[in-house]
Amino acid sequence: MNGDQSNYGRSKKLGDKNDLRIKAIENGTVIDHIKPGQALHVLHILGVNDNFTNTVSIVMNTGGERGDKDVIKIEGRELTEKEVETIALLSPKATVNIIRDFEVVSKRKIRTPESICGIVKCVNPNCITNSNEPAETRFIVTENEKTKTLALRCVFCESVMTTELFNYIL
Ligand SMILES: [Zn+2]
Repeated sequence: MNGDQSNYGRSKKLGDKNDLRIKAIENGTVIDHIKPGQALHVLHILGVNDNFTNTVSIVMNTGGERGDKDVIKIEGRELTEKEVETIALLSPKATVNIIRDFEVVSKRKIRTPESICGIVKCVNPNCITNSNEPAETRFIVTENEKTKTLALRCVFCESVMTTELFNYIL
């Protein structure tokens, strides 16, 4: 009997520990299933910097035994469509959960867009979008057949970008 009680005490304590690790939020967004290691890039996309005052929680390399995802909770903030599209480029399997009054009011898988405009700059320095012409960048989103990773094809100069996309985000 005593043993059972102490076990109960222990699991309570574990629960508290989990609460400490990442707290439920009242209103805001939880971005889940972020590709491990991409959370910091996602924060950058969302404009989280020194001047950002909302509460933000990040857990990296969590979930599953291998720690196969990153999670971000951000208070008092919902994402724009453009932010979701940008996150899709880095982490196509992420999910975006909108929290209102502690309840998940919407949960959706990020869908990789078929094309993206004005999010990424072209790798080709001679591309018209990198000239003084005011042309907005536009890419067709495809898949690299060999690596099965995302590839972007510039509609102006046909340059294909497959790696280090984060470095080209505008
Ligand atoms: Zn181009």
